[in-house]
Amino acid sequence: MTFPTPPDLGRSWWLRECLALPEFRDPPAAPLAGDTATDVVILGGGYTGMWTAWFLKERDPGIDVVLLEADICGGGPSGRNGGFCDGWYGHVADLIPTYGAAAAKELLDAAGSSPDEIGAWCDEHGVDAWWRKGGDLAVASAPAHEGKWVGTIEAARRLGVEDHYRVLGPAQVAERVRSPMFGSALFLPDAATVHPARLARGLRRVLVERGVRIFEHTPASRLGFQRPVVVETPGGTVRAEEAVVGLGAWATSWNAFKPILTVRGSYMVVTGPAPEKIEEIGWTGGEAVRDLRSSIHYLRTTPDGRIAFGLGGLQPDLARKIDPRYAYDERMVRRVAADLYRMFPTFEGVPMEAGWGGPINVSGFTMPFFGSLPPGNVHYGLGYTGNGVAPSHLGGKILASLATRADDGLTRLGVVTREPKRFPPEPIRSPGMLIANDAIRRKDDREADGREADPVTAFVAGLPRAMGFNLGPGPRKTR
Ligand SMILES: Cc1cc2nc3c(=O)[nH]c(=O)nc-3n(C[C@H](O)[C@H](O)[C@H](O)COP(=O)(O)OP(=O)(O)OC[C@H]3O[C@@H](n4cnc5c(N)ncnc54)[C@H](O)[C@@H]3O)c2cc1C
Repeated sequence: MTFPTPPDLGRSWWLRECLALPEFRDPPAAPLAGDTATDVVILGGGYTGMWTAWFLKERDPGIDVVLLEADICGGGPSGRNGGFCDGWYGHVADLIPTYGAAAAKELLDAAGSSPDEIGAWCDEHGVDAWWRKGGDLAVASAPAHEGKWVGTIEAARRLGVEDHYRVLGPAQVAERVRSPMFGSALFLPDAATVHPARLARGLRRVLVERGVRIFEHTPASRLGFQRPVVVETPGGTVRAEEAVVGLGAWATSWNAFKPILTVRGSYMVVTGPAPEKIEEIGWTGGEAVRDLRSSIHYLRTTPDGRIAFGLGGLQPDLARKIDPRYAYDERMVRRVAADLYRMFPTFEGVPMEAGWGGPINVSGFTMPFFGSLPPGNVHYGLGYTGNGVAPSHLGGKILASLATRADDGLTRLGVVTREPKRFPPEPIRSPGMLIANDAIRRKDDREADGREADPVTAFVAGLPRAMGFNLGPGPRKTR
């Protein structure tokens, strides 16, 4: 295996690719210098913060919006993810017990339109974010995974949305992508893929054109809960009528979110271009592929014939901030690349061109949650649990409604009204998560070798679900 030199300095391959292009290389936004006042201040320049700014301006072009980003917009997970752009159809089996059937159907409908709306938005605004509707293939990569979708199909029938799912046998899967590890699969035709950083930087460009005042390299260091809200940064303060918190994993340092938000890690590699090898395995339809492990593999192609391949469910010690281990890390690249070569042996010899990771902010129900903190003018959208590319578009609509006090269908969705699931307090939480995560990975690895997990491992891996969390072996898979 060959490795990229020099290391990527903490930026994903996606971000480096697009920042090298004139159409995405906008001048940096200067840090805040001095004090200012605004209608709405947004903390965080990921998709959640930026879609919120977009929908606020769409509803009221005259509204003044200030967006504060500690790094550059898209420097966090929004510019370093797998680019799987799907709603919540894959979660249907967990949605019904969590929210009830009627609310589950509302959530499916609300998020279901986001992949297409994102594609249309990119067309309208001249953002070439490689949007492609190739569908999502949730594939059995071990015999133990076969039939894991039965509960999903049953739940889909109950809600009358079964048209959004197709079960494919091994031969039909092989028509889409060939791997010696793949058996049958569940195919979700509505899903798309995007180039995550081009989407983030495209959003940023359009927001600047719309008059959103963006300050990069401007970390919010303190937020005063009062009216107006006062946000302190190293270069000055922002006074605002309303504040929106789109800080992803960084929000776990806020006391208000500690009980309901935790962090895991995900790591990705990208191969060099090998279009002839992509042809050889027949993977030319642009499908987003994920397997049915709990510590999920997620993989997709790029237009120039690469595979971008990720491994999710990493231990929480790799979390919380984009620390050096989330930059290029040879140990992690070797580990993830070994899984890629095992899945596609004909790629042996194709070099890995980059590796990077990022924190995943995890909620107990694996669904994001939205709401407002006292005295009512600080609104938040967090907890996407590895599925935020399309749901943050819906999240932007919800937060725009909350910030403008619109009493509409969006603010009555289950992700707003349902209390998030609370994690156990420390000192139980961290060791408990480590032990459960370890058991989940051991169970996945044994199943990949065609063996069953021993009873103790299976029992410990099943504990999160037994305690009412939608985490670990069960219907839902996360990155
Ligand atoms: C490796 C990886 C792969 C993933 N793959 C997928 C996928 O394929 N599909 C999918 O749907 N989801 C995926 N996800 C999850 C997805 O990327 C996130 O759910 C989504 O980007 C969340 O966007 P956000 O705006 O809420 O948060 P973020 O993108 O995390 O944005 C938060 C921002 O806040 C900034 N910030 C932090 N502290 C401060 C502060 N004090 N002041 C100001 N700004 C601050 C950060 O720099 C960051 O830019 C993946 C995530 C990772 C890490």
